[in-house]
Amino acid sequence: MSQYDVVVIGAGPGGYVAAIRAAQLGFKTACIDAGVNKAGDAPALGGTCLNVGCIPSKALLQSSEHFHAAQHDFAEHGITVGDIKFDAAKMIERKDAIVTKLTGGVKFLFQKNKVDSLHGLGSFKGKNGDLYQIEVDNKGEKTVVEAKHVIVATGSVPRPLPQIAIDNINVLDNEGALNLTAVPQKLGVIGSGVIGLEMGSVWKRVGAEVTILEAAPTFLAAADQQIAKEAFKYFTKEQGLAIELGVKIGEIKSADNGVTVQYETAKGEAHTAQFDKLIVAIGRIPNTNGLNAEAVGLEKDERGFVKVDGDCRTNLPNVWAIGDVVRGPMLAHKASDEGVAVAERIAGQKPHIDFNNVPFVIYTDPEIAWVGKTEEQLKAEGIEYKKGTSGFGANGRALAMGKAKGTVKVLADAKTDRILGVHMIGPVVSELISEGVTGLEFSASSEDIARIIHAHPTLSEVVHEAALAADKRALHG
Ligand SMILES: Cc1cc2nc3c(=O)[nH]c(=O)nc-3n(C[C@H](O)[C@H](O)[C@H](O)COP(=O)(O)OP(=O)(O)OC[C@H]3O[C@@H](n4cnc5c(N)ncnc54)[C@H](O)[C@@H]3O)c2cc1C
Repeated sequence: MSQYDVVVIGAGPGGYVAAIRAAQLGFKTACIDAGVNKAGDAPALGGTCLNVGCIPSKALLQSSEHFHAAQHDFAEHGITVGDIKFDAAKMIERKDAIVTKLTGGVKFLFQKNKVDSLHGLGSFKGKNGDLYQIEVDNKGEKTVVEAKHVIVATGSVPRPLPQIAIDNINVLDNEGALNLTAVPQKLGVIGSGVIGLEMGSVWKRVGAEVTILEAAPTFLAAADQQIAKEAFKYFTKEQGLAIELGVKIGEIKSADNGVTVQYETAKGEAHTAQFDKLIVAIGRIPNTNGLNAEAVGLEKDERGFVKVDGDCRTNLPNVWAIGDVVRGPMLAHKASDEGVAVAERIAGQKPHIDFNNVPFVIYTDPEIAWVGKTEEQLKAEGIEYKKGTSGFGANGRALAMGKAKGTVKVLADAKTDRILGVHMIGPVVSELISEGVTGLEFSASSEDIARIIHAHPTLSEVVHEAALAADKRALHG
């Protein structure tokens, strides 16, 4: 029976990064993963993120943005194109090639770092002294490995709707939404969170009529509401996404010709909508299926997350859990950072993650990104703050790009000037938010950002200007 210092269960961005870091630190490491490729005929590392999440969604967002730009934006640059056609199957093929490249990259990294990659479902079997026994079930072929430390990184799965099962033919989860090979005429999306908005944007840009139904009365409740309101305006008024907030979803029926959704609007009016396809994007739930946590008494909370402390320690000695399967935001970078930190803790190091500094990004157009506290949170916590905002409307680079829309807002402590939150909507703010994250991580003041030289002409000048504005000395505002 093989024995390891560290066995990681799950090779998503949490697990594979944890395994690589553990191996780098000199531990004999194995990573067990049950994931398979789209065809279902070969193992595919990388978890939700690489196979059916972050990466494929960004590939489709990019393709659809190009198509939209060719149709609507090229003319003002003096570019005339002929009859523009869209081939959804080709877009999916490109996306699949990117996924294959990246999942293969994880396999290569495992080999390079001498991580044993074990394909199959990993489940706790019991203990042999201090060692945990983990069974690996590869289509009925079972082996058992023993480990001093176990890192559970089994991720999450889509939250199901009670009304109807996902068939990925008419009623789709993220996997189905990322694999449509024809543009639906009418697309319904339940849920206006990150996944709903990103998938809705993709299919809207390539010609679908998109309706997003959201149960919450507030749009993007977790985001700063000034930014959320601006986003809502762009998405609905300019881009034509129909977003209904505060709806109650009733009966959903799927038939050969599409899906019927009954719902009540916020005003109490009954509606029936007919869609060709329906995407269900109402969040994700922790995945502990098949883990057999009970065999060793691994505790979960009432919502099914593996219970951990701030350092990702579970109730069991030397069993750790990271990523989507534990509390906190379900984000790939949060999972990876927890993975690195746990491997380093096993090595006796003292890494620290400040969960207040986890950046959030929504890859719509314009993009939305933030880090730290929103104005709503600061008010609720009674923290006195000052704010500086600046727009992309007069930013030279944004104008040159044809993307001069959006706002950056810097929130800083009223007395100390320490940055408390940075909120953005605009072009490529997924990249600009790093300056905010660095600022928060280094306890920077808004004056620090204001005194840093920002290259001209760049989008980052808007961040600079917002920091200046926090001190009421904006130069261009
Ligand atoms: C459409 C979509 C878009 C997204 N976009 C972004 C984005 O842009 N940015 C971002 O930060 N996040 C994004 N996310 C979220 C991101 O994908 C997750 O936060 C991230 O993948 C979590 O990583 P993880 O390692 O915890 O789990 P996962 O990536 O879910 O990986 C878990 C792995 O464990 C395996 N597994 C589960 N149980 C077992 C078992 N018992 N034995 C063996 N293997 C097992 C699974 O097969 C899987 O391979 C997106 C998600 C979706 C669905």
